[in-house]
Amino acid sequence: MKILIVEDEKKIASLIRKDLEARGFVVDVSHHGDEGYTFATTRPYDVVVLDIMLPGRDGLSILRNMRERGMNVPVLLLTARSELNERLEGLNLGADDYLTKPFYVEELGARIQALGRRASGNARSLLKIEDLTLNLLTREVSRANRPIELTNREFVLLERLMRSPGRVFTRAQILEQVWNSDFDPGSNLVDVYVQRLRKKVDGDSPERLIETIRGVGYRIRGSA
Ligand code: CA
Repeated sequence: MKILIVEDEKKIASLIRKDLEARGFVVDVSHHGDEGYTFATTRPYDVVVLDIMLPGRDGLSILRNMRERGMNVPVLLLTARSELNERLEGLNLGADDYLTKPFYVEELGARIQALGRRASGNARSLLKIEDLTLNLLTREVSRANRPIELTNREFVLLERLMRSPGRVFTRAQILEQVWNSDFDPGSNLVDVYVQRLRKKVDGDSPERLIETIRGVGYRIRGSA
């Protein structure tokens, strides 16, 4: 498991790191909210631990932005005893757990382990938007229990869209993330694939899930 710790108190951060590394986790530590935000949104983690009071962007703002981007990585908040309102706001924003300072690093380690386990279970391997489901383990896709056959590329494209419901992807972003190479962004490759995918996913269903945002790109409907 890969864990991100965003905590400006260096001593606490280093104690946490030691405990987690002893559990066999790979740990990134950031002492600054802006850097922590960049890490959290650009690198893949299994669990993110956010202190609330940070220089730069605060923990709640990092969490809010992650959830707005449709990122569902488990987040544990570190809060001070006095930060009751912040704790409640954090839970409303989609935090999965919190720990009040001071705490035992062993307890934090155990909670992180539990969060990671929970996330790697079925809940994480199944992406679901309304009646559309995509199983990352079996690679089965279905809409209203009707199986949908996708090519490998179509599967990756749908997975990308479903991981960030509501987020608009530009053609260039889709090219980069699904083809991972430098196709001519002027080509209509993405449009062709999206049309094909839409035909399979939306078919003649009255509920269209894959939307075109004119002049920008595509997204799958639904909020994070
Ligand atoms: Ca702090």
